[in-house]
Formats: sequence, structure tokens, C-alpha cells
Amino acid sequence: MKLLLIIETAVLLLLLALLLRRRNRPAPPDAASSIDRERDEHLKLALWGSGEHFWDYDLKLSRLTLIQPDDSPTLAHMLPSIHFDQSLNQLPPVHPQDEALVERRLHDHLQGRTDLFISEHRIDPQNNGNWIWVRARGRVVERDQDNHAVRMAGTVRDITANRHADAERRIASEVLRSMSEAVAVLDQDFRFVAVNPAFTRITGYSDMEALGKPIAILDSEHDREHQERSRQDLADRPQWQGNVWMANRNGQEILCHIKHNAVFDSNGKCSFRVVVLSDITEQKRAEQELRYLANYDALTGLPNRSLLAERLAEAILAARQDGSYIAVLFLDLDRFKDVNDSLGHAVGDRVLHAAAERVQQMIGSQHTVARLGGDEFTVILEHLKSREEATGTAQRVIEAFSKPLFFGDHREISVSISIGISLYPDHAQIPTDLLNHADTAMYHAKSAGRRTWQLYSPQMDETTQHRATLANSLRRVLERDELKLVYQPRYSLVRQRAVSVEALLRWRSDEFGDVSPQQFIQLAESTGSILDIGEWALRQACLTLRRWQQLGLNDFNISVNVSAVQLQRGDLPGTIERILGETGVPARNLELELTESAVMANFERNASILSACREIGTRLSIDDFGTGYSSLAYLKRLPITALKIDRAFIGDLIRDPDDEAITTAIINMGHALALTVIAEGVESFGQLRFLQNRRCDEVQGYLVSPPQEEARCLEYLIRSPKPGEYRPG
Ligand code: C2E
Ligand code: MG
Ligand code: MG
Repeated sequence: MKLLLIIETAVLLLLLALLLRRRNRPAPPDAASSIDRERDEHLKLALWGSGEHFWDYDLKLSRLTLIQPDDSPTLAHMLPSIHFDQSLNQLPPVHPQDEALVERRLHDHLQGRTDLFISEHRIDPQNNGNWIWVRARGRVVERDQDNHAVRMAGTVRDITANRHADAERRIASEVLRSMSEAVAVLDQDFRFVAVNPAFTRITGYSDMEALGKPIAILDSEHDREHQERSRQDLADRPQWQGNVWMANRNGQEILCHIKHNAVFDSNGKCSFRVVVLSDITEQKRAEQELRYLANYDALTGLPNRSLLAERLAEAILAARQDGSYIAVLFLDLDRFKDVNDSLGHAVGDRVLHAAAERVQQMIGSQHTVARLGGDEFTVILEHLKSREEATGTAQRVIEAFSKPLFFGDHREISVSISIGISLYPDHAQIPTDLLNHADTAMYHAKSAGRRTWQLYSPQMDETTQHRATLANSLRRVLERDELKLVYQPRYSLVRQRAVSVEALLRWRSDEFGDVSPQQFIQLAESTGSILDIGEWALRQACLTLRRWQQLGLNDFNISVNVSAVQLQRGDLPGTIERILGETGVPARNLELELTESAVMANFERNASILSACREIGTRLSIDDFGTGYSSLAYLKRLPITALKIDRAFIGDLIRDPDDEAITTAIINMGHALALTVIAEGVESFGQLRFLQNRRCDEVQGYLVSPPQEEARCLEYLIRSPKPGEYRPG
């Protein structure tokens, strides 16, 4: 390198010397002048060809002489002319940032510390703010007697374009280094020629390991064939992008997004391929997770409503083509709310999970089972040849639920299920209608006594319509004065006489005639009108008792049914206190009847409301006991005074040993908790005797007396007949 510089400088100095001589010397004789001319030509050509400019600096005069070839050689000569008129009295300004450096380098050279003055710096040749980069080289060519440098000469070259290209290269390589995507350059044979640090981070291969190896080192095992094929495709295509499974150095699968670009040389031949890889494994996993969350129920892992709708739409398309039936089954666990309320939501969730498994097992994996939320499941049965296949499957599911569900820790629970069925193409053609119809049919299965299935029929919609008009008319029931109370006595087996009456609501509607309490109370609860109706019943019951007390019947209590909605939404203690105050009935003569499920829903809050009622002095009983899921631990914490055994157990006494055992157990348990135990729905002497033997405290039922109007009940109480003696007129 150094040698080259010396030669180069020597040549230039020689050229310079020749030029100077030519300038100073008188014209030579002809022969010599032709040699000079020739040399002159050579000099011009050399300078022009090298792209360098020559400079000569007189240090004493501070004068710079520049010799530069004419940039625009005329075509006629194809040779540049050389100017000598570039004598400058002033050096072109050096960029302020480079000034100190240039000065130091010059100084070092003049002091003899460097053989050659070399400097790359910016100057402004035109002094107009256009800075260019130059590379100047030169040395001292003349010294005075004191050995002081008096003259320097050398070359200078505009390197602005090179500097820009260098800067671009530096930026590009810095960008590659800091990129998060892996970048690899491959040769025509798909072998690595260069890789960046991200490549190492993503694939695990260092540049030393990768260079020279084929890209096939990244092939993943189970996608090899496809990868080879796609490489073949790549060879024909200059640009390509897509997702490919690859394996990293540890053999771990990574999903990569790949961008491939072929780089062509000037002959149009592909010389390199640039491959940019980004690892999207995590992103894909997150996407899959999101898709899962959007389409599946987290609790049971079953498809959710949106996936169900999608599958149903697909099933309809398929059925349209092959002429088969589709059945939509709407399944609802019976009284699941009670399970949740009494055993807690954690247990409820496990029961739902077990129920989902049982349904899927029964239905088979070829059909879709989805959970729409709560305790509702939907099944799509596809490719059915007959309608009976649908009802048969529904029946099998119901029977499958006759065995208890297991939900961990050897715990089990019996839950029954009600099913509504709609059929394609019989009942509807579109998913939403099929689902709605199956839902309607399910409600009818519930009303038909639960643990059964119902096939949709258009009349069911009329019933639903009827329900809506009924609810509407129920809202005005009080202002129309269509409600009344009837009273059913409770007979004490100990005191051998009636001791209390239960007030029961009756609705005779102008539009619909007599509507049963089972029907309208549930409706009033769902519309919220039970709050007003319940308060009305409480007030009427107290007014009746007050009238009886004024007639001297002081030894009777009255019990009033209270709905769960009144517990949840109304101010029950406040209402009771107000009504007792208004009517003058002593609190001890009023008993509130609440069902197990009403109390168990939101137990803590209800327990404190009931305590407030108890503090006022009213009695509290648990109605329909044995049908819900009360836990004894909870029961003990409630301030209750009585248990009413549900008439479902009493009805089968004498016939069913199980019901006898349950009834006996409830009586014993009630007594152990110091509670009065009442048997509801007593209709026969056989039942009465059984209850008497088991020391049940009180009985209520048609054997004693059916519910009666106020005047008739008063008559009954005054006559006080024994069970079986009373015959209503
Ligand atoms: P409940 O509180 O368990 O009332 C006892 C039900 O058993 C009454 O039905 C009564 O007529 C019926 N019953 C009485 N003795 C016998 C019998 O020997 N055999 C049979 N098979 N049934 C008997 P009802 O009057 O139809 O009332 C049904 C339910 O409606 C009541 O069950 C109660 O839960 C609710 N209910 C009635 N009145 C009200 C009220 O004012 N408020 C609230 N929230 N619910 C009420
Ligand atoms: Mg009751
Ligand atoms: Mg009851």
C-alpha cells in the first residue's frame, strides 16, 4: 500500500515537474517539442483518467495552484485540456469540524513526523456552503537553506460520493445488526452466506455454525417434504412470503413468517437470496388462544353460542343437500339454581362440568354439544333419517341422568334434565328459529313436570303468547281487585285442634278465569309484580286474623308465603313492621313461610334479613322442605321456628319406604334442632297415623280441611272438628 502511494506520488511529482518545466522554459526546438507534446498528452490523460487534481502550495506566499483536467472533454479530441489559472491566494475553507484535524496532520508532516500528508476532510471549494469531501495527499517538495519547508505538492480527489456510499453501507449493516427479524443471505444453492444476530437468537445457530450450511438445517421434521417442494418453488420465483414451520438448533418447532427476495446480477441471473424470518410462534399461539376463547366455553370446553351458530348453519347447508333431518335439542338442568344456591358456585361449576361430559358421552363425538351459559346445553344431531331418532336420543339423555353425577372427592348428586326439541326442516329453516323453537319446547318440558322432553309445535308459541298477556293482566290485578286469599287450617297432633291457618292466594281473572297459583306466582316473580302482590297478601292475612281475634279467637296464628323476590328486593322487615303496626296483630301470631331455595340463594344476606324479622317477633318456617338442597350447617344458622315437609314425601307414605324414611328423618332432625315439624298434603288416615307414630307436630291437608274462604274457615275454626270430620259444603 505504502509502496503504491510512493509510486503514485512519484509519478505525479514527475508529471508536475514536467508541467512546470514546460511553463518556465522557452520553446524547445521542434523535435524536443514534439516529445514534450507527447508527454503533455500523457500527463493530461493520466490526470483525467485518475480523476485526481493536482495541487502545488507555496508556503511562503500562501498561494495554492490547482491543476485540474477539464471535465468536459470535447468529443472531437476526446482529450481534456488542462487549466493553469487556478492560482488561489486563499485556501478553500475547511469544514469547522475538520479544521483542527487537518491542521494537526499538516503540522505533523511539516515537522517531519510523517512522510506523507494524507487527509480526508470537507472543503467548500466555491465558498458557497456546498461542502464536499476530499481526500488530499501530498508532501514537502522544496526546503530552504534552513531546511524549512517552502513548497508542498500533491493530489486531491472529490470523494463525496464514496463517503455517502460508505455511510449508507454503515447504516445498512447497523440496521441489519439491530433488526429483530432474522436476516440471512443465501447463495443460489440455498446455502448461508451471511446472517445477522437476530438469526442466531431465533434459530440458535451462530453465524460460524450457519455459514456454508444449507437452509435445510432449519427444516422441521414433520414438514420436510413440503419444505423441499416449497424450495423448488422458490427457485422459480423471485419473491415469496408465507408462514412455515421450522426447527431451531434444539429441534424445537418454531412457526416463522418468511419473506424471500432474489437479488439479480447485471446479467439477470439470481446471485443471492435474501430471506427475512420472523418468529410468530407466540403470536400464533395467542391467536389460537383467542380463537379458542371466542368459540369455546371456558368451564366445560364445549363450543359456545357463536361456534354453535356456525356449526348449525353448516349442518343446515349439508342437510339441504342430502335431504336428512337435523334436530336441535335444548337441554336445561332441573332446579340447578338450587344446587348453586345451596352448595355454592364452585360445586355448581363442577356439577356442570360433569353434566357436560355425560351429555357429550350420550350424544357421541360426531354431534355438536354446546354450552350457551348457565345450565343450558344445546345439541345438534345431524344426518338423521327419521324424527324418531331425535326423540329417542332425548329420552336416552334423560335416562342417563337418572344415575348420579360424580364431581370429585367421591361426591355425587342427582340432577334431572328437561329437553326441548326442534327439527329441520319441519319447524324452521334458519338457525335462530330452530334454537328459539327448541327453547320454547324446553319450557314446555319444564311445565310438564320436568325430567322429560317435548317436541316443538306451533301451539307452544300460542302458550308463550298467552303467558305474555297473562303477565300483562297480572300487572293490573290489584287495581282490578281480582285477588283474594283462602285459608287452610293446620292441625296440632299434640293439642288435638287447629292452631294456625295458611293464607293462600287465588286469582280469578275476568279474562282468563281461575289461574292457578303455580302459574301466576312464578309469572309475578319474573315480572317483579310479586312485590306489590306479596305485600297485599301480608296485609290481608293480618287484617283477617285481626278480625278473628276481635271475635275472640285469640289462640290462632296465621302463616303467609313469602317469595324469594321479596327477600332479595323488598324491605321485608320494614314492610312487616309497618303492616303489624297498621293492623294491630301481635308479631308472634304471624309466621312467614319461605322455601328452601329462596333462603339458600344469597344465604348470608337472607340470614340477616330473616334475623331482623325474627327480632320483630314473627315466626319463620321453611316450606316444601326436602325438595331443595339445604345443608344442615346452614339450617342451624337460620333463626327458623318450623319445618314443613313437602307434600311430595307425604303423598307416598305407606307405599314408598324411601319417603317414609325421609319423612322420619326430617321429623327427627327438626326435633333435634328444636323446630316444630309440619306435614303438608295429608290426605289419608294412613298418612295421619304414620305421622302421629313418628311424633310429627302438626298436619295440614285435605284430610283436615282444604283451603277455604275467610267466612268458611272461621266457621271451621269455631267448630274445631277432628281430622276427617270436616266436610266442606
Ligand atoms: P305451599 O305454600 O306449599 O301451599 C300448599 C299448597 O298445597 C297449596 O296449593 C294448597 O292448596 C295445596 N294443598 C293443601 N293441602 C293439600 C292436599 O292435601 N293435597 C294436595 N295435593 N295439595 C294440597 P296452592 O294454593 O295451589 O298454592 C301453591 C303454592 O303457591 C304454595 O305452595 C305457595 O308456594 C304458593 N303461594 C300461594 N299463595 C302464595 C302467596 O300469597 N305468596 C307466595 N309467595 N306464594 C304463594
Ligand atoms: Mg306454604
Ligand atoms: Mg308447601
